[in-house]
Amino acid sequence: MTLQDMNEYETAFNEDDEEDSDWEPLKRHVEILKWFCTNCTMVNLDDVVHCDVCGEHKRSGILRNGFFASPFFEDAIASRTESESAGRDADSSSRNSVSSCSTAVGFDERMLLHSEVVVKSHPHPERPDRLRAIAASLATAGIFPGRCYPIPSREITQQELQMVHSSEHIESVQLTSHLYSSYFTPDTYANEHSARAARIAAGLCADLASEIFSGRCKNGFALVRPPGHHAGVRHAMGFCLHNNAAIAALAAQAAGAKKVLIVDWDVHHGNGTQEIFDGNKTVLYVSLHRHEGGNFYPGTGAAWEVGTAGAEGYCVNIPWSRGGVGDNDYVFAFEQVVLPIASAFGPDFTIISAGFDAARGDPLGCCDVTPAGYAQMTRMLNGFSDGKLLVILEGGYNLRSISSSATAVIKVLLGEHTETEFVKRGPSRSGLQTVLKVLQIQKNFWPTLGPSFEELDLQWRIFSIRKKNKQLKKRRRTLAPICWKWGRKSVFYHLLLKGHFVAKSKRR
Ligand SMILES: [Zn+2]
Ligand SMILES: [Zn+2]
Ligand SMILES: [Zn+2]
Repeated sequence: MTLQDMNEYETAFNEDDEEDSDWEPLKRHVEILKWFCTNCTMVNLDDVVHCDVCGEHKRSGILRNGFFASPFFEDAIASRTESESAGRDADSSSRNSVSSCSTAVGFDERMLLHSEVVVKSHPHPERPDRLRAIAASLATAGIFPGRCYPIPSREITQQELQMVHSSEHIESVQLTSHLYSSYFTPDTYANEHSARAARIAAGLCADLASEIFSGRCKNGFALVRPPGHHAGVRHAMGFCLHNNAAIAALAAQAAGAKKVLIVDWDVHHGNGTQEIFDGNKTVLYVSLHRHEGGNFYPGTGAAWEVGTAGAEGYCVNIPWSRGGVGDNDYVFAFEQVVLPIASAFGPDFTIISAGFDAARGDPLGCCDVTPAGYAQMTRMLNGFSDGKLLVILEGGYNLRSISSSATAVIKVLLGEHTETEFVKRGPSRSGLQTVLKVLQIQKNFWPTLGPSFEELDLQWRIFSIRKKNKQLKKRRRTLAPICWKWGRKSVFYHLLLKGHFVAKSKRR
């Protein structure tokens, strides 16, 4: 059949059946061959009922049935105006005493307007439902609105942005507000509301930082998007427009903080934050992330990236060599690397770049950190800088995982008991290897790590020798039977082939 034949055939067919009714069921069938998971956006084949990645049901009602459409938003506005009027009525000293022992949350609905406008073959994982999900979870738990108080939102100023980003970058983000849809990179989108959402996110982070540092509130959680840790001095990438954590660190310093610790437990390396504070001894950047020899996005963050220009050691990268990393490896790395270095550094303000994409069930991170693990890490960092701790949301794309993880973290900020306590076990082999490598490099800048490196290294050597011996013994045991088996087999085949050959030759 040539192309011309095909055209003729099609025309003939169309003439016979103008309504194309025969084709419709087939077309419909093709359309429902796959479905996208509401909870994690991943694609599944039609005959699968539960999502392959996160286990969510195909016809999940988490969004449709109002699970995440909580009365939160109206309540938040009501409580905000309530607290504002209360603040106006009361004198400032009593207002301080009310909030100085409480946890603040930064949130603004206008950040929900930032979304990908262009309909693509796959829904974008960094979507407004992420904030809706966490907000609804907090509302259900009576945390926010409830036991946390909202801080008023504002847009970050040009001057504040310029302390972190180049004028060209700020302008390029600003320009998107005139465009219906635009892209910084193929996966970093913007719509007409994105620039404002990014300014509000950064503004909330800056204000939370100065509120916490000045003691007007105990600690805080920035429930913000777009995320920030991939945004560098002059580039937007990896769903990030402005670097919220960097802006918060500088706001804390503007309020008087001398040394700021940033711990980034997002599953991706915060290349933007690392770049911004490279060569800066007043900000210590620590990141735990999947790296896999540079094959995991964004590819930076190897253990040997320790900072430059006389600030070596003020950048600490803990690069996992595989996926599936869980609570035990994270907590082990905290005990061996993060806490000793943080103690030696002695921060007076602490920021967590809290992506929840290393959480169990995340479609992008494919790791295994549970809410109990996140709560434990928060508890461990809460011991620094007099508890002046700001948690900033970065990534995390499984709605259920990010909701339960963020809720567990905020409960620690509130000083509340979390339902599931972390049960400590040892690290995995690869986790231990990564931590050893980091210790070996960082002990040159942080002498406090020396003894624990020697000790762990010795344990590792003993473990390796024992393992080798075990393997040798095993091989010796299995060696004889294999020879014997193969010996018998070869005799058997020899006979069989010979017989076959004989049979064949006889027939001739
Ligand atoms: Zn899913
Ligand atoms: Zn990270
Ligand atoms: Zn991430």
